[in-house]
Amino acid sequence: MLKQLESIMNKEKRISAVAVFFMIFYVAIWLIHQNLIITDYLGIHIFLQFLSISVAFAIAFEGWLSYPFSYSQHRLYVAAMFFAAGFFDLFYIMTFISERPLILTFLDEPDRNWLWVIARLTVAIFLAVIFNIKDTDRITIGRNLVFSLAVLFIFLVVFLNFNLNFPDLLTQDNRPTFLKTVLEGVTTFIYFLTTIILMLQYRKTKEEARLYFILSLLLLSISEFSYVLSYDVSWLNVVGDGYKILGYYFFLKGLHTSTIKEPYEKERRTQEELFQSEARYKRLIEDSPDGNIVHRNGKIIYANKHAVQLLKANDRTDLIGKTIYDFLPEKYHSTIKENMENMIIHNQLFEQTELAVYDLTNHKMIVEVSAIPTMFGVEPAVHIIFRDITARKELERELKEKNEILKHLSSMDGLTGIPNRRSFEEILEKEWKRNMRERRPLSALMVDIDYFKYYNDFYGHLAGDDCLKKVAHTLKNQLKRSGDFIARYGGEEFVILLPGTDQSGAYIVAKKLCRSIEELGIPHEKSESGPYLTVSIGAATLIPENTHQPLDLIQLADQSLYIQKQNRPSEV
Ligand code: GH3
Ligand code: MG
Ligand code: MG
Repeated sequence: MLKQLESIMNKEKRISAVAVFFMIFYVAIWLIHQNLIITDYLGIHIFLQFLSISVAFAIAFEGWLSYPFSYSQHRLYVAAMFFAAGFFDLFYIMTFISERPLILTFLDEPDRNWLWVIARLTVAIFLAVIFNIKDTDRITIGRNLVFSLAVLFIFLVVFLNFNLNFPDLLTQDNRPTFLKTVLEGVTTFIYFLTTIILMLQYRKTKEEARLYFILSLLLLSISEFSYVLSYDVSWLNVVGDGYKILGYYFFLKGLHTSTIKEPYEKERRTQEELFQSEARYKRLIEDSPDGNIVHRNGKIIYANKHAVQLLKANDRTDLIGKTIYDFLPEKYHSTIKENMENMIIHNQLFEQTELAVYDLTNHKMIVEVSAIPTMFGVEPAVHIIFRDITARKELERELKEKNEILKHLSSMDGLTGIPNRRSFEEILEKEWKRNMRERRPLSALMVDIDYFKYYNDFYGHLAGDDCLKKVAHTLKNQLKRSGDFIARYGGEEFVILLPGTDQSGAYIVAKKLCRSIEELGIPHEKSESGPYLTVSIGAATLIPENTHQPLDLIQLADQSLYIQKQNRPSEV
């Protein structure tokens, strides 16, 4: 866009130079022909007319040139209209018989005045109409068509004038007729009206170009008014010509401002802003603590400092030219390729994912990756942002492991290594519900070491602890069914849960347990129930129902144990 506008501006300059050259060339010939003296007003009049024709053609040229870029129908109509007006004026001055190099013989003296009047009337009417219709920024009409219509209009006017013999506009003694004065009065009025309309429009939208148009139309009004006042080709006529040229000139300036200068400035500003924001964006990426890579079809075209560091490259050149797949395990290739392609097609974000990648030293790391489609240069590419989370992942894994150990520990008894009371209660809850569903009996055994206080007192606490470990171990080994569960309930008390076991079954297990402890043969001198360490076991069996609580079962077992203790020694 900017380049196109620049080329238009250059073209304009060149063509203006050519135009000025031909102007000077023409004027030189004309002055030579006039013996280098401008003798009368008519000569000056013709000269000024020629200047105004040049400006009119410049306006036409400007509109023609800028139309595809400005997309304004107004400009196109204006251009075509000035094109026509320029031709009318050209034909007009070319009919001055006294000016030899200009002679155009096909028009009579009276006919040419019509061209002169129609030229300005055309400009006035068309400008009034154009400034009052809505402009569109879409190309709806081709410029060839509009300019063809302008040419048609010129020929129509010339043809009609020729064939219909329009009434004379000058009298025999070269004075304007009433008709000429009226036509010029109407033209003045239209110009003036358009000036007012433009001023009102300017109050709404303050545009530089509109100011030039206002000035232009004001000057054209004055110019036209001078023609109304002049009764002869006189100094007033010359003043009118001067104002007309100035009017046309400011119109050209307005047109230039709105079609080329303003769009150019705007485009230049936006490009500058874009450039600055792009530079800022690049800085941001370059200094980002994350690895940033831009790739096109997998091929790396940019990498920031951190990407170089993370991928263990020596510098950027190690990465550029490589593909992203060089760093990814083979198994990811097809899915990632598909993802990247989809991203560009649908302009989607690649959500944050964790991937294993291999750096240039073939060292594996876990990275967190996200990707966004972007423009790199002028073509689409993919911007990948990644960070090494290997350490974090390792920490997470360690933490998880430790947590599991901690969880295990909290459910275990530190001394004996069997589950503790807390986990027993959890299991009891579960088994209670399960056995209730299955309507199966649930038995609990409460095991208590006999005279353990004496044991401690006599053998010492450390021996006591040792003894507890042995007992726990032995009891545990006696439980054969998978659902059986043993826990240390308190000091020297253990609790055993026997799911799906009825009263008699529980009794058998209890007996077996008692025997197994006795058979350990742990000497217990202070025991009143024999030479070796013994245990007492209280048993209870319930078919779980809603009317009971799980802990009722334990209470029953405890009561049973209490009764046992009354009927010593060592009984179940
Ligand atoms: P009973 O035959 O009536 O059960 O008498 P007991 O002495 O075994 O019963 P009591 O409940 O009065 O005493 C329990 C003793 O168990 C108290 C304490 O010396 C001992 N004990 C409890 N926990 C531990 C422990 O962790 N280590 C050791 N070494 N001894 C413990
Ligand atoms: Mg006890
Ligand atoms: Mg005891």
